[in-house]
Amino acid sequence: MAAPAASLLICALALALATPAEAAQKKHHQKKHHQEKDADEAAPGEKVVDEGETTKPIAPRPYKYWCQKGECTKFCGVSGIDKAAVAAAAARTKTNLTKDMVDAAVAIQPELEKLGCKPAGGKEAGKASRNCGIEFNKGKGHRFILPGLARGLAKAALGAQKEGVVISVGSTVRSLEQQVELMCKNHRKGMDPPCSGNTGLACPGPNVHTDGFAVDLHLESTAGKSLTQGTGNRQDCKARKKQVLANPHLKKLNDIMFAAGWWKYCEEVWHFEYTQNPYNHFRKREY
Ligand SMILES: [Zn+2]
Repeated sequence: MAAPAASLLICALALALATPAEAAQKKHHQKKHHQEKDADEAAPGEKVVDEGETTKPIAPRPYKYWCQKGECTKFCGVSGIDKAAVAAAAARTKTNLTKDMVDAAVAIQPELEKLGCKPAGGKEAGKASRNCGIEFNKGKGHRFILPGLARGLAKAALGAQKEGVVISVGSTVRSLEQQVELMCKNHRKGMDPPCSGNTGLACPGPNVHTDGFAVDLHLESTAGKSLTQGTGNRQDCKARKKQVLANPHLKKLNDIMFAAGWWKYCEEVWHFEYTQNPYNHFRKREY
Protein backbone atom coordinates (compact mmCIF):
# COMPACT_ATOMS: atom_id res chain seq x y z
CA MET A 1 0.00 0.00 0.00
CA ALA A 2 2.75 2.40 -0.95
CA ALA A 3 0.23 3.68 -3.40
CA PRO A 4 -1.60 6.59 -1.75
CA ALA A 5 1.23 9.12 -1.65
CA ALA A 6 2.54 8.11 -5.03
CA SER A 7 -0.85 8.14 -6.65
CA LEU A 8 -1.60 11.58 -5.40
CA LEU A 9 1.59 12.77 -6.93
CA ILE A 10 0.59 11.21 -10.20
CA CYS A 11 -2.83 12.66 -9.96
CA ALA A 12 -1.57 16.09 -9.14
CA LEU A 13 1.02 15.87 -11.86
CA ALA A 14 -1.58 14.80 -14.34
CA LEU A 15 -3.72 17.73 -13.45
CA ALA A 16 -0.83 20.04 -14.06
CA LEU A 17 -0.62 18.93 -17.66
CA ALA A 18 -3.55 20.93 -18.98
CA THR A 19 -2.16 23.89 -20.78
CA PRO A 20 -3.55 27.37 -20.35
CA ALA A 21 -4.41 27.25 -24.05
CA GLU A 22 -6.57 24.18 -23.55
CA ALA A 23 -8.17 25.80 -20.58
CA ALA A 24 -8.91 28.96 -22.47
CA GLN A 25 -10.34 27.00 -25.37
CA LYS A 26 -12.58 24.99 -23.09
CA LYS A 27 -13.69 28.08 -21.30
CA HIS A 28 -14.61 29.72 -24.57
CA HIS A 29 -16.57 26.61 -25.48
CA GLN A 30 -18.42 26.69 -22.19
CA LYS A 31 -19.25 30.35 -22.51
CA LYS A 32 -20.78 29.71 -25.89
CA HIS A 33 -22.96 26.95 -24.53
CA HIS A 34 -23.98 28.52 -21.29
CA GLN A 35 -24.89 31.99 -22.31
CA GLU A 36 -28.28 31.60 -20.73
CA LYS A 37 -26.71 30.62 -17.45
CA ASP A 38 -24.29 32.64 -15.46
CA ALA A 39 -21.07 31.69 -17.15
CA ASP A 40 -19.02 34.47 -15.67
CA GLU A 41 -15.85 33.41 -14.03
CA ALA A 42 -16.27 32.24 -10.49
CA ALA A 43 -13.43 32.88 -8.16
CA PRO A 44 -11.63 29.65 -7.42
CA GLY A 45 -13.07 28.26 -4.24
CA GLU A 46 -16.35 30.05 -4.68
CA LYS A 47 -19.13 28.03 -3.12
CA VAL A 48 -19.91 25.00 -5.19
CA VAL A 49 -23.57 24.69 -6.06
CA ASP A 50 -24.87 21.76 -4.11
CA GLU A 51 -27.86 20.74 -6.16
CA GLY A 52 -26.57 18.19 -8.63
CA GLU A 53 -25.42 20.24 -11.57
CA THR A 54 -22.76 22.73 -10.77
CA THR A 55 -22.77 25.60 -13.14
CA LYS A 56 -19.94 27.87 -12.19
CA PRO A 57 -16.63 27.12 -13.84
CA ILE A 58 -13.42 27.68 -12.00
CA ALA A 59 -11.33 30.39 -13.54
CA PRO A 60 -8.27 28.88 -15.22
CA ARG A 61 -5.02 29.82 -13.61
CA PRO A 62 -1.41 29.38 -14.62
CA TYR A 63 0.08 26.34 -12.92
CA LYS A 64 3.68 27.35 -13.37
CA TYR A 65 3.28 30.68 -11.68
CA TRP A 66 4.60 29.60 -8.32
CA CYS A 67 7.87 28.37 -9.67
CA GLN A 68 8.88 31.42 -11.57
CA LYS A 69 11.46 33.89 -10.35
CA GLY A 70 12.49 31.75 -7.38
CA GLU A 71 8.98 31.90 -6.01
CA CYS A 72 8.97 28.28 -4.86
CA THR A 73 12.29 28.24 -3.08
CA LYS A 74 11.47 31.20 -0.97
CA PHE A 75 8.72 29.25 0.83
CA CYS A 76 11.33 26.84 2.17
CA GLY A 77 12.86 27.98 5.44
CA VAL A 78 15.64 26.13 7.21
CA SER A 79 13.38 24.60 9.81
CA GLY A 80 10.04 24.63 8.07
CA ILE A 81 7.89 26.43 5.56
CA ASP A 82 7.35 30.18 5.62
CA LYS A 83 3.63 30.12 6.37
CA ALA A 84 3.10 33.84 5.85
CA ALA A 85 4.67 33.68 2.40
CA VAL A 86 2.50 30.68 1.50
CA ALA A 87 -0.66 32.44 2.70
CA ALA A 88 0.23 35.57 0.72
CA ALA A 89 0.80 33.55 -2.45
CA ALA A 90 -2.44 31.66 -1.85
CA ALA A 91 -4.34 34.92 -1.61
CA ARG A 92 -2.70 36.20 -4.77
CA THR A 93 -3.52 33.08 -6.77
CA LYS A 94 -6.89 32.54 -5.06
CA THR A 95 -5.85 29.06 -4.00
CA ASN A 96 -7.77 27.62 -1.06
CA LEU A 97 -5.99 27.06 2.21
CA THR A 98 -6.89 24.31 4.65
CA LYS A 99 -8.87 26.74 6.74
CA ASP A 100 -11.46 26.89 3.93
CA MET A 101 -11.97 23.14 4.09
CA VAL A 102 -13.99 20.75 6.22
CA ASP A 103 -13.43 17.13 7.24
CA ALA A 104 -15.43 15.19 4.66
CA ALA A 105 -16.17 12.33 7.06
CA VAL A 106 -17.83 14.75 9.46
CA ALA A 107 -19.42 17.14 6.96
CA ILE A 108 -21.19 14.34 5.13
CA GLN A 109 -23.11 13.11 8.16
CA PRO A 110 -25.85 15.80 8.30
CA GLU A 111 -26.14 15.63 4.51
CA LEU A 112 -26.77 11.89 4.66
CA GLU A 113 -29.39 12.41 7.33
CA LYS A 114 -31.13 15.03 5.19
CA LEU A 115 -31.25 12.48 2.40
CA GLY A 116 -32.70 9.83 4.69
CA CYS A 117 -29.81 7.75 6.06
CA LYS A 118 -28.44 8.08 9.55
CA PRO A 119 -24.77 7.12 9.82
CA ALA A 120 -24.41 4.20 12.20
CA GLY A 121 -21.41 5.76 13.88
CA GLY A 122 -18.34 3.92 14.95
CA LYS A 123 -15.15 4.69 16.76
CA GLU A 124 -13.51 6.18 13.72
CA ALA A 125 -15.36 8.93 11.88
CA GLY A 126 -14.09 7.69 8.53
CA LYS A 127 -16.08 4.47 8.86
CA ALA A 128 -19.13 6.02 10.49
CA SER A 129 -21.14 6.32 7.29
CA ARG A 130 -20.41 2.90 5.79
CA ASN A 131 -24.00 1.84 6.40
CA CYS A 132 -25.03 4.76 4.16
CA GLY A 133 -22.76 3.63 1.33
CA ILE A 134 -19.57 5.59 1.92
CA GLU A 135 -16.42 5.54 3.99
CA PHE A 136 -13.25 7.63 4.14
CA ASN A 137 -10.12 5.54 4.23
CA LYS A 138 -7.71 8.34 5.13
CA GLY A 139 -7.18 9.70 8.59
CA LYS A 140 -8.29 13.05 9.88
CA GLY A 141 -6.31 15.83 8.25
CA HIS A 142 -6.17 14.00 4.92
CA ARG A 143 -9.78 14.12 3.85
CA PHE A 144 -10.51 17.80 3.43
CA ILE A 145 -13.11 19.04 0.97
CA LEU A 146 -14.79 22.33 0.27
CA PRO A 147 -18.08 22.39 2.21
CA GLY A 148 -20.08 22.42 -1.04
CA LEU A 149 -18.95 18.89 -1.93
CA ALA A 150 -20.55 17.21 1.06
CA ARG A 151 -23.97 17.10 -0.56
CA GLY A 152 -22.57 15.58 -3.75
CA LEU A 153 -20.74 12.92 -1.80
CA ALA A 154 -23.87 12.13 0.19
CA LYS A 155 -25.85 11.68 -3.01
CA ALA A 156 -23.19 9.37 -4.38
CA ALA A 157 -23.18 7.44 -1.12
CA LEU A 158 -26.89 6.73 -1.25
CA GLY A 159 -26.56 5.77 -4.90
CA ALA A 160 -23.97 3.20 -3.86
CA GLN A 161 -26.07 2.01 -0.94
CA LYS A 162 -28.97 1.39 -3.30
CA GLU A 163 -26.67 -0.76 -5.43
CA GLY A 164 -25.44 -2.72 -2.42
CA VAL A 165 -21.89 -1.36 -2.56
CA VAL A 166 -19.76 1.15 -0.67
CA ILE A 167 -17.75 4.07 -2.01
CA SER A 168 -14.35 4.21 -0.34
CA VAL A 169 -12.85 7.67 -0.56
CA GLY A 170 -9.07 7.96 -0.53
CA SER A 171 -7.38 11.20 -1.45
CA THR A 172 -9.37 14.34 -1.29
CA VAL A 173 -7.28 17.42 -0.77
CA ARG A 174 -3.64 17.71 -0.29
CA SER A 175 -3.58 21.15 1.21
CA LEU A 176 -1.41 23.84 -0.18
CA GLU A 177 0.58 23.77 3.02
CA GLN A 178 1.15 20.00 2.75
CA GLN A 179 2.24 20.34 -0.86
CA VAL A 180 4.68 23.11 0.00
CA GLU A 181 6.06 21.03 2.86
CA LEU A 182 6.73 18.13 0.52
CA MET A 183 8.37 20.39 -1.99
CA CYS A 184 10.61 21.94 0.66
CA LYS A 185 11.55 18.52 1.99
CA ASN A 186 12.82 17.64 -1.47
CA HIS A 187 14.55 20.97 -1.69
CA ARG A 188 16.37 20.41 1.59
CA LYS A 189 17.50 17.02 0.33
CA GLY A 190 19.18 18.85 -2.50
CA MET A 191 16.64 18.08 -5.18
CA ASP A 192 16.79 21.33 -7.06
CA PRO A 193 15.03 23.18 -8.38
CA PRO A 194 11.83 22.44 -6.52
CA CYS A 195 9.08 21.21 -8.80
CA SER A 196 11.47 20.74 -11.70
CA GLY A 197 9.43 17.72 -12.74
CA ASN A 198 12.35 15.43 -11.87
CA THR A 199 10.81 14.18 -8.67
CA GLY A 200 7.29 13.73 -10.02
CA LEU A 201 6.00 16.18 -7.47
CA ALA A 202 3.47 18.59 -8.86
CA CYS A 203 4.22 22.15 -7.97
CA PRO A 204 2.18 23.68 -5.19
CA GLY A 205 -0.37 26.07 -6.48
CA PRO A 206 -3.78 25.93 -8.07
CA ASN A 207 -5.07 22.52 -9.05
CA VAL A 208 -8.31 20.71 -8.38
CA HIS A 209 -6.99 18.58 -5.52
CA THR A 210 -5.38 21.55 -3.79
CA ASP A 211 -8.49 23.62 -4.32
CA GLY A 212 -10.72 20.94 -2.81
CA PHE A 213 -12.91 20.02 -5.77
CA ALA A 214 -11.61 16.53 -6.51
CA VAL A 215 -11.81 13.13 -4.82
CA ASP A 216 -10.12 9.83 -5.60
CA LEU A 217 -12.28 6.85 -4.73
CA HIS A 218 -13.12 3.24 -5.49
CA LEU A 219 -15.99 0.82 -4.97
CA GLU A 220 -16.01 -1.85 -2.30
CA SER A 221 -18.38 -4.65 -1.47
CA THR A 222 -20.21 -4.28 1.83
CA ALA A 223 -17.79 -6.91 3.15
CA GLY A 224 -14.90 -4.54 2.40
CA LYS A 225 -13.51 -6.15 -0.75
CA SER A 226 -12.14 -3.69 -3.33
CA LEU A 227 -14.11 -3.88 -6.55
CA THR A 228 -12.45 -1.14 -8.58
CA GLN A 229 -9.00 0.38 -8.90
CA GLY A 230 -8.28 3.13 -6.40
CA THR A 231 -4.87 4.37 -7.57
CA GLY A 232 -2.45 3.92 -10.43
CA ASN A 233 -0.98 5.65 -13.42
CA ARG A 234 -2.70 7.83 -15.90
CA GLN A 235 -3.78 6.11 -19.10
CA ASP A 236 -5.11 7.19 -22.41
CA CYS A 237 -8.84 7.95 -22.26
CA LYS A 238 -9.67 5.46 -25.03
CA ALA A 239 -7.96 2.66 -23.11
CA ARG A 240 -9.78 3.71 -19.97
CA LYS A 241 -13.10 3.68 -21.76
CA LYS A 242 -12.47 0.10 -22.89
CA GLN A 243 -11.57 -0.80 -19.33
CA VAL A 244 -14.77 0.71 -17.96
CA LEU A 245 -16.99 -0.88 -20.59
CA ALA A 246 -15.51 -4.29 -19.82
CA ASN A 247 -15.92 -3.94 -16.06
CA PRO A 248 -19.45 -3.87 -14.58
CA HIS A 249 -18.13 -2.48 -11.29
CA LEU A 250 -16.49 0.48 -13.00
CA LYS A 251 -19.63 1.10 -15.03
CA LYS A 252 -21.62 1.05 -11.83
CA LEU A 253 -19.23 3.49 -10.18
CA ASN A 254 -19.50 5.85 -13.14
CA ASP A 255 -23.30 5.62 -13.14
CA ILE A 256 -23.47 6.35 -9.43
CA MET A 257 -21.15 9.34 -9.63
CA PHE A 258 -22.69 10.89 -12.75
CA ALA A 259 -26.17 10.58 -11.24
CA ALA A 260 -24.93 12.36 -8.13
CA GLY A 261 -23.61 15.29 -10.18
CA TRP A 262 -19.94 14.42 -10.54
CA TRP A 263 -17.60 14.50 -13.51
CA LYS A 264 -14.85 11.99 -14.11
CA TYR A 265 -11.29 12.54 -15.19
CA CYS A 266 -11.10 10.08 -18.06
CA GLU A 267 -7.42 9.15 -17.66
CA GLU A 268 -7.97 7.90 -14.12
CA VAL A 269 -10.90 5.65 -13.20
CA TRP A 270 -10.75 6.75 -9.56
CA HIS A 271 -10.75 10.54 -9.94
CA PHE A 272 -13.98 12.57 -9.86
CA GLU A 273 -14.71 16.28 -9.58
CA TYR A 274 -17.78 18.06 -8.34
CA THR A 275 -17.57 21.13 -10.45
CA GLN A 276 -17.67 22.06 -14.04
CA ASN A 277 -14.00 22.15 -14.85
CA PRO A 278 -12.57 24.42 -17.48
CA TYR A 279 -9.06 23.02 -17.37
CA ASN A 280 -9.38 20.63 -20.26
CA HIS A 281 -11.43 18.18 -22.22
CA PHE A 282 -10.60 15.22 -19.98
CA ARG A 283 -13.60 15.87 -17.74
CA LYS A 284 -16.48 13.76 -18.87
CA ARG A 285 -19.83 12.39 -17.95
CA GLU A 286 -19.59 9.33 -20.10
CA TYR A 287 -17.77 6.00 -19.88
ZN1 LIG B 1 -7.27 12.60 -8.24
